[in-house]
Amino acid sequence: MSTATEGRTFESVHPATGVVVGTHPIDDAVSVDAAVERGRGAALWWGRLGFDERRRRLLDYKAVVTRNLRRIAEAVSQETGKPEGDATLEAAIAITHIDWAARNARKVLGPRRVPSGLLGVNLAATLEYLPLGVVGVIGPWNYPVFTPMGSIVYALAAGNAVVFKPSELTPGVGVLLAELFAESVPEHPVFQVVTGFGETGAALAGHPGVGKVAFTGSTATAKRVMAACAANLTPLVAECGGKDALIVDRDADLAAAADAAVWGAMSNAGQTCVGVERVYAVAPVYDDFMRELTRRVAALRAGEDYGPITMPEQADVIRRHVDDALAKGATAVVGGADAVRPPFVDPVVLTDVPEDASAVQEETFGPTITVAKVADADEAVRRANAVAYGLGGTVFSGNVRRATELARAMLGGMTAVNSVISFVGVPSLPFGGTGASGFGRIHGADGLREFTRPKAISRQRFAIPGMNLTSFTRTPADLERLVKLVTFLHGRRKS
Ligand code: NDP
Repeated sequence: MSTATEGRTFESVHPATGVVVGTHPIDDAVSVDAAVERGRGAALWWGRLGFDERRRRLLDYKAVVTRNLRRIAEAVSQETGKPEGDATLEAAIAITHIDWAARNARKVLGPRRVPSGLLGVNLAATLEYLPLGVVGVIGPWNYPVFTPMGSIVYALAAGNAVVFKPSELTPGVGVLLAELFAESVPEHPVFQVVTGFGETGAALAGHPGVGKVAFTGSTATAKRVMAACAANLTPLVAECGGKDALIVDRDADLAAAADAAVWGAMSNAGQTCVGVERVYAVAPVYDDFMRELTRRVAALRAGEDYGPITMPEQADVIRRHVDDALAKGATAVVGGADAVRPPFVDPVVLTDVPEDASAVQEETFGPTITVAKVADADEAVRRANAVAYGLGGTVFSGNVRRATELARAMLGGMTAVNSVISFVGVPSLPFGGTGASGFGRIHGADGLREFTRPKAISRQRFAIPGMNLTSFTRTPADLERLVKLVTFLHGRRKS
């Protein structure tokens, strides 16, 4: 299908072995344009199918994906290097999102009557959420199934066609997801993939035929994508990573908190946008927590418990953050500067890191964690919120009310309580951030609405005698009646 100019291609490789696992076209602006044009035709057909038929097709796609779970996990593992077990978990969670989006699209987006108010008593008011046409999805490499699916399947369920540009590191996974979709929807190219580098993504973001762009990646690239979108006023949902904190309160289950911190920080070699990068533990439990934490971290092996650093340049970022922290007086309780031995990075636990160090302020995206002792949970929240990012977060506390207060006070869009990253597996919860973590939401009802335009229709059922207000034949008596009615309805002060 692809018409990449001059047949130029690129290879995807296993990041740990360097073995080539696939060859893909470098789609240029011409082929992106062709894909978007095809997508516009497909979107018309898909949009007209209606909620029930789309639900049937998407549930069929879910079954196809599920039957191909092992194949998908293998493709993910080959292109990212992550253990197949982790790849399977990722794909399994994505399946629950396909299911939820398929089953809930009509309920969330379908036409409904809404109250028209006393002034509009003669009107029938309806609200519905209509598709945008073609949604451009630009995806990352760290969770190449779960993350883009959070946009793709919600956009599809809302009646849009999708053109997906996977990361140059994981094109094979993207192609496979679209191929499997064609088994359930063979008639039209409703879900297409274009492959290539940043220019391919830029061509998609800047295409005037794209109704919305869903981007996941770095904050710096999100700004470039937003600038490309600005040319056509194309709306954007941007998920740009984070610097998530885990708070350990005085009555927390310390073993559970340590276990969660280690998984949150080290699984997938720390390459998780909602991974734990910082811990704030209150003074009375700090030492016990550190004991639990270091014991668990010391047992972990890079290359066994988690895979390599998928993007080679990331190793430099991790080294820079560790070096900077140590130069500023931090202590490496586990690991240290020599932990970075590409393509692997051994676990690193840093304490006494000044809050202005890059290891505290910038996304490290490696198997590293900073731990700070704080006087109380309020200080923990203050310091957790004192970064540019606001994506996810975690609270461990023995008191449900206190835990909920702390969760609410954290700036991120999602907070897990007494668990880690648990919100990703709840499809009805929206996912997204604030500040440098981006804006807009995927997942849940908000995630469905994100890929639509609300359509408001007010239909006059009958004319109200003596209330001829929106006409040049209006009389002073009409206005007088309006003033009386508004005064009656809204003029009384209530305490
Ligand atoms: P990028 O933000 O550069 O890439 C994300 C996606 O955008 C990729 O598909 C990429 O394509 C594409 N892209 C790159 N340039 C453009 C452009 N000008 N216009 C449109 N699309 C573009 O992230 P990286 O993969 O380089 O990772 C860098 C950092 O981003 C990481 O160190 C990490 O901190 C953060 N990150 C956060 C993620 C998250 O989950 N929030 C996921 C991945 C990274 P291509 O891959 O072909 O360049």
